[in-house]
Amino acid sequence: MTTLAFLGLGAMGDPMAAHLATHARAHGHRVLVWNRTHAKAGAHARAHGTQAATLTEVAAADVIFTCLPTSAEVDEVMSQMRPHLRPGATWVDCTSGHPDAATRQAAELAALGVTFLDAPVSGGTVGAQQGRLTVMVGGDAAALEAVRPHLAFAGKVVHVGGTGAGFAVKAVNNALLGVTLWATGEGLAVLGRAGVNLGAALDVINASSGRSNASENLIPQRVLTREFPATFALGLLAKDAGIAVDLTQGVQGSAPVLAQVAALLRAAQHVVGAHEDHTAALKLIEAMNAKEIR
Ligand code: NDP
Repeated sequence: MTTLAFLGLGAMGDPMAAHLATHARAHGHRVLVWNRTHAKAGAHARAHGTQAATLTEVAAADVIFTCLPTSAEVDEVMSQMRPHLRPGATWVDCTSGHPDAATRQAAELAALGVTFLDAPVSGGTVGAQQGRLTVMVGGDAAALEAVRPHLAFAGKVVHVGGTGAGFAVKAVNNALLGVTLWATGEGLAVLGRAGVNLGAALDVINASSGRSNASENLIPQRVLTREFPATFALGLLAKDAGIAVDLTQGVQGSAPVLAQVAALLRAAQHVVGAHEDHTAALKLIEAMNAKEIR
């Protein structure tokens, strides 16, 4: 029997582990779950037929999934689990982590006979609930093929390169989300000040070349409604854009727009709040323009 373990039952991890449980039931595997706040693991076990477990117990699994805020938290659990890991296991890190951490973690685990794949996801909490996430994987292609059947939460899986490439692609993707979200917010604030109806403006933009996921979905559903539902924290988006800046420096590249947006998102995190939804970053633009985007 293959033992699968999932660590980190947050907004993403909880529904991802639920899909793992459905997959495991169909194939005779078992799923262990661990969460820092242990009660959430117990609740997951009752709801989905998984088993709440200790860090020592999850460390002995054949495939270990993590979905934690940053690579720093992955380091924390990894250091506690290290003595109990089993050679031949694979660690699939679905955190939006740091490429440098991936390189270090992969080397540390390889010394123990454990394979590391960086496998961050996109698609948001809705994609996680529907089991339709896109998974971008860095690391050994053969190791990915071995665990691919267990990626039950995925709608699309792409091997993007060696160790760290998954985290790099995720960071750039989210920096681009930051750029379109921020720039669309600026444009709408200016149009608002000019007295233009923003619903009509978005109607045009979304039938024109300025459209993006921000203009088509995020801003109409979350900003114009003033709901800002907290499904993806502003602090996490700022973290991702910061990783894109680190990546730029690491390759001696030049990406001033990404750097600018990373700085703006960091400022918005401090002013608006790290735990607010990422779309609430536009409240800083509203303050800068003395105009609500509504
Ligand atoms: P949440 O804040 O909802 O969940 C975070 C999880 O990490 C919780 O299980 C939390 O445990 C746990 N955790 C926090 N700190 C520690 C720690 N020091 N040690 C151990 N566990 C810890 O985050 P998300 O699920 O939204 O995000 C998880 C990852 O997925 C992030 O890297 C994020 O960038 C990425 N992501 C998020 C998306 C989204 O739409 N939300 C979309 C795509 C990627 P506890 O319950 O005890 O707090």
